[in-house]
Amino acid sequence: MKKTTLMLLLAGVVITCPAQTTIVRDPEIAAMVKEVNADSLQSYIKSMVAFGTRSTVSSVTDKKRGIGAARNWVLMKFEQFAAASGGRLTAFVDTTTYAADGRRVKEPINLGNTVATLKGTDPSDNRIFIISGHLDSRRTDVMDGTNDAPGANDDGSGSAAVLECARVMSKHHFPATIVFVTVSGEEQGLLGSGYMAKKAKAAGWNIEAVLNNDIIGSNNSNETNIIDNTRVRVFSEGLAFADTGRMVSRIRSMGLENDGKSRQLARYVKEIGERYVDNLQVVMVYRPDRFLRGGDQIPYQQNGYTAVRITEMNENFNHQHQDVRTDKGVVYGDLAEFMDFEYLRKNTAMNLANLGNLAKSPGMPQDVRIEVRGLGNGTSLSWKAPVDGKPKGYFVLIRETTSAVWEKKMFFAGTEANLPYSKDNYFFAVQSVSEEGNESLPVVPVPGR
Ligand SMILES: [Zn+2]
Repeated sequence: MKKTTLMLLLAGVVITCPAQTTIVRDPEIAAMVKEVNADSLQSYIKSMVAFGTRSTVSSVTDKKRGIGAARNWVLMKFEQFAAASGGRLTAFVDTTTYAADGRRVKEPINLGNTVATLKGTDPSDNRIFIISGHLDSRRTDVMDGTNDAPGANDDGSGSAAVLECARVMSKHHFPATIVFVTVSGEEQGLLGSGYMAKKAKAAGWNIEAVLNNDIIGSNNSNETNIIDNTRVRVFSEGLAFADTGRMVSRIRSMGLENDGKSRQLARYVKEIGERYVDNLQVVMVYRPDRFLRGGDQIPYQQNGYTAVRITEMNENFNHQHQDVRTDKGVVYGDLAEFMDFEYLRKNTAMNLANLGNLAKSPGMPQDVRIEVRGLGNGTSLSWKAPVDGKPKGYFVLIRETTSAVWEKKMFFAGTEANLPYSKDNYFFAVQSVSEEGNESLPVVPVPGR
């Protein structure tokens, strides 16, 4: 049997391993995914657009117009959800004075992120999972804080996804903590996420994953009229900012260019997103962001955290960073009428499935090792139980070195695996799994003692 299995895999055929357990949807997550509602998302975006502008340099004191009114409205929504969830969700506007920087901030501003925290139910579990969108919008002139900047899709869509996940998830219990945040200052230079990531690092927050959602609700490009509402992109960094010196040497010698933490998170997002959301393909893009653009995932990455960016498949640049106007028959501007709320529903549900699966999972296995002392045509892996949670067991993940995604997932109840697959020919990782089938992020083994 072993011989047949190995031969089939070498021939490039994906086969079912006898040790593989059946992957099923966790009914609790499936029920939450069903609750994500296109009309809710649309109503949030309508409310956000109604503030006229949400420019970071607009008024913070005007009750009806500008970023101050908008962030207070997000706070009011979080507080509504908190009341419906028995008060377990807590929210506040985290403000700071940001000084003039000679770039996109000319005079000191009151910068504010609206943050809601759903505290984990396990007091000894300090893991945090974050979903982020940016509340601020912009005009063609990024310094214009006065005139209309609707920002329906950029990034009303990401902010709406954050709100909808908070609404649905705050009624449920998770051992780990989930933070829902809409930041400001993205268009001014990633200011709000920079403030939050630095603060998190200084306070020692154990953030295991950040899902940054920016522009996730429109289904066509400005070049063609083809509607594509079945694919969404996840951008991940290859080399981490901390990968220097000896880390780079190890990556080079083991061929781990595509196995950094951000890339593992991207694979995870794809697997779990596609498990729970029908008619949606998650397309991994192996770069930190698009050309000429950046996003709120970057400050987290710079501070050593694992983060990815989620963005629609095809962008329509007539509706981003553009003043609302009609020019030669073309309508420009970021208006809700150009959005697809069913597509936004799927992308939001994809986020929710991932946050739910992560926050319900046991912690990652510790001290994951691959035995490399001798030559041989097998692989020996060992690991230790996670600090947080009680796993039912572990999945060993295997893929060919040229494969973008994990090809085999083998269940082990114990903390070691001896596999008839050559360590020279495959990549491996280990993840913990709960009784309900919620997997931790995978851990790539380091060479054993
Ligand atoms: Zn944006």
